[in-house]
Amino acid sequence: MVIAQLCRRGRMHSDGGASPWKRPRAGAVEQAIPIRGDVGTELELCNVSTWFGGVCALDDVSFTIRSGEVVGIIGPNGAGKSTLLDVISGRRRPQRGVVLHCDADVTRATALKRSRRGIGRTFQQLSLFTEMTVSEHVLLGYMGRRREPGRSLARRRSAWFEAMSAEATAEKGPGLSPTALMSSLGLQAVAGELASNLPVGTARLVDLARALAASPRLLLLDEPVSGLSVQEATAAAGFLRQVSEHHEIAVVVVEHDLDFARAATDRLVALNFGAVIADGRPAEVLALRAVQEAYFGGNQAQGDVADVEGRPNS
Ligand code: ADP
Ligand code: MG
Repeated sequence: MVIAQLCRRGRMHSDGGASPWKRPRAGAVEQAIPIRGDVGTELELCNVSTWFGGVCALDDVSFTIRSGEVVGIIGPNGAGKSTLLDVISGRRRPQRGVVLHCDADVTRATALKRSRRGIGRTFQQLSLFTEMTVSEHVLLGYMGRRREPGRSLARRRSAWFEAMSAEATAEKGPGLSPTALMSSLGLQAVAGELASNLPVGTARLVDLARALAASPRLLLLDEPVSGLSVQEATAAAGFLRQVSEHHEIAVVVVEHDLDFARAATDRLVALNFGAVIADGRPAEVLALRAVQEAYFGGNQAQGDVADVEGRPNS
């Protein structure tokens, strides 16, 4: 709590997107930004910095994510997006700064501990098991957070069937049981396929289903729709929003596809050279000259971003 208070004293704008803003000079917002109450704060990054040798991958990054909020992280290649997810998930420790999950300091907690706290993720480099089927991947995610020591695999598998019947009687809305996820993401037709036989877009959906099956409370997605068609990406954006709202899952999604980012998120945080250059409502952030310049360079950074949006790079 003390750490949280110390962090908040120096943190930057975190009002959930009331207006876009440019990264101020250190200290400039200390009085300007009112401190929001703790209710519903899922994650807080306080002055996080990470270097790789002489390269600063994250430069004094601070922002807050509320429960059930979908926040997009955008920025050109090398901006620090994947490093940011690594720092939140525990794959990498920052050299400076603090990471708070539900007000607990997890800066030094391992990735396993954070996953047990309900922080799930997918990776930019797909890492499915080539010898496992689609349904086995989703089952793996489902079983991952439900620790049942001493149970055999066969007995643990029965939990899937329990989940299926629970789903049948559950309230309305998108479910997180393996079958519901596979159905919502259109994976039932390939349920028995080995992951190695899947096109990359379908494999991304399997990875998303696996991550959601673990019932995360904070889900980190690194380019989840790369390789999907426009229609598939649109459907995935709608599903992500629904599932986040219905289950109050906070989502941090790194994505180059700006149409997806606009459709799927409540708020965008733009990074450039590791620093936050904007944080606010998607349309407003995307219209900012600094954001357009970061993506497209000075010459094209004019007019509304609608003129230049799409897939700027890969
Ligand atoms: P993004 O995901 O936005 O493309 P990254 O987070 O992957 O960017 O990288 C941010 C910066 O950190 C880049 O300059 C990249 O070259 C560097 N970087 C990332 N990972 C490593 C690493 N393991 N070793 C050295 N440099 C790295
Ligand atoms: Mg990346």
